[in-house]
Amino acid sequence: MSYIDKILEIINKKDPGQPEFLQASEEVLDSLRIVVDQDKIYEKYGILERIIEPERVIVFRIPWVDDAGKVQVNRGYRVQYNSAIGPYKGGIRFHPAVNLSTMKFLAFEQTFKNALTGLPMGGGKGGCDFDSSGKSENEIMRFCQSMMNELYRHLGPDTDVPAGDIGVGAREVGFMYGQYKKLVNNVTGVFTGKGLTWGGSILRPEATGYGAIYFAEEMLKLKNESMSGKTVAVSGFGNVAWGSCIKAAALGAKVITISGPDGYIHDPDGISTKEKFDYLKEMLLIDRNKVETYVKKFTNAKFFPGKRPWEQKVDIAIPCAIQNELNGDDAQKLAANNVKVVVEASNMGCTPEAIKLFVDNKIAFAPGKAANAGGVSTSGLEMSQNSMRLSWTAEEVDVRLHAIMCNIHKTCVDTAKEFGFEGNYVIGANIAGFKKVAKAMIEQGVI
Ligand code: GLU
Repeated sequence: MSYIDKILEIINKKDPGQPEFLQASEEVLDSLRIVVDQDKIYEKYGILERIIEPERVIVFRIPWVDDAGKVQVNRGYRVQYNSAIGPYKGGIRFHPAVNLSTMKFLAFEQTFKNALTGLPMGGGKGGCDFDSSGKSENEIMRFCQSMMNELYRHLGPDTDVPAGDIGVGAREVGFMYGQYKKLVNNVTGVFTGKGLTWGGSILRPEATGYGAIYFAEEMLKLKNESMSGKTVAVSGFGNVAWGSCIKAAALGAKVITISGPDGYIHDPDGISTKEKFDYLKEMLLIDRNKVETYVKKFTNAKFFPGKRPWEQKVDIAIPCAIQNELNGDDAQKLAANNVKVVVEASNMGCTPEAIKLFVDNKIAFAPGKAANAGGVSTSGLEMSQNSMRLSWTAEEVDVRLHAIMCNIHKTCVDTAKEFGFEGNYVIGANIAGFKKVAKAMIEQGVI
């Protein structure tokens, strides 16, 4: 039995109830066959056995009192996955679907993503099954404070640095950071995505979306094309979708869809004006589960209840919402409509069937761990600014972000080519991320 198959057997036996974790790790392991067959050093040092096991998982109770005076309890997680190349780094997600499987898959993906950025950040992820929709600001604050009452002891600027993710934006980061600061009595910038007056980086909110568009631009360049004049389907209407709309418009492309749990919007005029960008932010506050709100303000747009945007004819598709939001059937529709480029801005946004269809049909497909790395890269830049007690301008941050995304793109392309899989960004990203983390693990001994 091959080394990879042995490891696949181990994870399936140990964690059968963790479908998202199995999906993410099977994809990575499958990409690594050629690497571990060629070089036995990985097996000798038990790298795969170690890399599939998180260094530490913290699971804890989050009790809080709602506005009616009733005690509520949520379950919190922090998965400190791998610190071979730097402190654990990764966001905190508030979403009802958060469980150990989703936390582990996200922290696993984050480990390779962070390696690809070229910055010294290990991989981690946290979250809880808290749904902020319908909660008052006071409830959200009390919840964030209770979460920190436990989590603070596991964090630190050189240990573990969280950030936002789905359901966690500047407001929630503010509440968590405030409580952390009070408990530890120091102001080391232990979160990223902080407010601009207290150590945050300009462009951090835009960064994931900007980065995904920069990545798409590099993919198009390889086909001697550009973003200019292209139509784009985006899903979600949160931070990542918002940043993608802004940067796509700046480069002359037109985002024509956004979506929510209730369906999707088709706006033939494009989500391309400042008024529309600003309205996306407002919509999150009105009801983060309803994208339909959009058509009340922009009446040329049409709402498709219960449907996904992938049925529209577009040049570029960018899933920006949540894992497994684009399946084999959706991929078939995009392929039939001659989509040129698919860029995962959400983590594991596409199912394995969808990815296989794109790869088989030679449709350029960028996995999230490469294409959405702009967010965590800008977090890395925020950490640098905090350490230096400096604040860079938007232009300075943008230049660095652009350079990082171009570099990740080049690394994926070159690595795929080196191993005989030219044009396969999944294999390129997985091998390049793995080799960096594995090298550090080998050099640091069996720990
Ligand atoms: N949650 C984001 C991600 O999935 C950002 C993490 C961070 O900035 O630490 O990469």
